[in-house]
Amino acid sequence: MPGNYTELLALPGVGSYTAAAVAAFAFGRRETVVDTNIRRVHARLVSGVALPSPSLTAAEMRLAAELLPDDVGTSVRWNAAVMELGALVCTARAPKCADCPVRDSCAWLAAGEPPPSYIPKGQAWHGTDRQVRGAVLAVLRLAETPVPAEMFEQEPADLGFAPEGIGVPLAALHRLNTAPEQLERALGGLVNDGLAQLHEGGYRLPA
Ligand code: SF4
Repeated sequence: MPGNYTELLALPGVGSYTAAAVAAFAFGRRETVVDTNIRRVHARLVSGVALPSPSLTAAEMRLAAELLPDDVGTSVRWNAAVMELGALVCTARAPKCADCPVRDSCAWLAAGEPPPSYIPKGQAWHGTDRQVRGAVLAVLRLAETPVPAEMFEQEPADLGFAPEGIGVPLAALHRLNTAPEQLERALGGLVNDGLAQLHEGGYRLPA
């Protein structure tokens, strides 16, 4: 496992947040870690708004980089502390401002707790692309040979063969009743992200 951000980011399926978090928390590097909790704390404490924008902006990344302490060890503790503050105190629905250790510096409190400018839509797990991708990977993990796309799309009985060793995860995938275009998107996404490979007309985990 590489220990620096650039090499971590080059790994299949690793995005910028994961690369920064692993470099900081596992290898003690000074990296700007920005997850949902950290974004919310920055939005309230520094920017004085109830919620960060619906998706991460360049301005937020600049702010997070500016706030990160220069000292390496302190930067690691800072990332962990801000993340925990967001998870336990400055929560999305009911921030515990009375218990907050930084309440005297909070721009949102000072501004009179203005309401959010939009209603956040939490992404449900059921029916999401992530759920389908996870179900496909569960099949591939147990498959000893490449799995043809038809097996993901149709019940094995309809195809006339027994899915040796992968019957249970395959049945779980079929219970999701995934639309063909979503299944195609999930399979294509896994291949693009390097988490699956097309081989001899079927899908398998990377060799
Ligand atoms: S005072 Fe309240 S809104 Fe401000 S950082 Fe603390 S918990 Fe969040």
